[in-house]
Amino acid sequence: SPAVAIRDLKKIYHTEEGSKTALQDINLTIEKGDIYGIMGLSGAGKSTLVRCINGLEQFDEGSLLVNGNSISDLKPKELRGLRRRIGMIFQSFNLMPSRTVAGNVELPLLNTGLDKEARAKRVAELLELVELADKAENYPNELSGGQKQRVAIARALANEPDILLSDEATSALDPNTTKSILALLRQLHDSLGLTIVVITHQMSVIKQICNKVAVLDHGTIVEQGRVFDIFANP
Ligand code: ADP
Ligand code: ADP
Repeated sequence: SPAVAIRDLKKIYHTEEGSKTALQDINLTIEKGDIYGIMGLSGAGKSTLVRCINGLEQFDEGSLLVNGNSISDLKPKELRGLRRRIGMIFQSFNLMPSRTVAGNVELPLLNTGLDKEARAKRVAELLELVELADKAENYPNELSGGQKQRVAIARALANEPDILLSDEATSALDPNTTKSILALLRQLHDSLGLTIVVITHQMSVIKQICNKVAVLDHGTIVEQGRVFDIFANP
């Protein structure tokens, strides 16, 4: 089954000011191994779509399968299990300032039944993977933006997810650092067989890393397909 299969999805927010349709007629299939871009301006519906995919937000109509499991039919415990299959990285990194780099990467491993020694071994492997072994005992505020995002990537991969959701993960980084983070993501995609979903407002990011793209505008998909076809220079 595909990594993510969305059919006729609709999401309405109900607020005091009234109803706001955030997503409508969303049809999207992300195959295993895709690096799939979801592009759009602020307010287009990207965050809402991501929160639906990782089960943080309920939707009003349609269906959404992750690894063949219908998100809306899962019991809370099953949903937590499924969420472990999805890693997330963000623009703001979301690292804990009071914990070292190693301590941050260890966080998702704390309630998995691994003992201290096994956790330390896994943390060391993860830091090797993102080339930050020498920063294990440093604190986040001692790192550059690119290094912080590498820590966040290591943490996101701790429980061996099949899917990595990247939500504007390079938006706070300069172009060269962006390039190196995207190169790392591609390398992890190639070596671990990860499916990656890249949410961004930047076409340059989509062109650098994605094989497929859906362009969102005001809650609907206005373009969808292979990056090569959609962004080909005429
Ligand atoms: P972004 O454009 O990066 O998604 P926003 O500023 O739109 O960031 O949203 C930040 C947070 O505020 C999100 O959790 C979103 O769900 C929430 N939010 C956005 N718009 C509204 C709104 N009109 N009413 C209530 N919450 C909102
Ligand atoms: P994006 O991530 O592309 O910036 P969002 O998914 O955050 O877009 O928002 C899509 C639309 O839904 C926007 O009009 C936003 O204001 C609205 N919205 C988002 N979150 C909420 C919320 N919690 N309550 C009400 N409206 C929201």
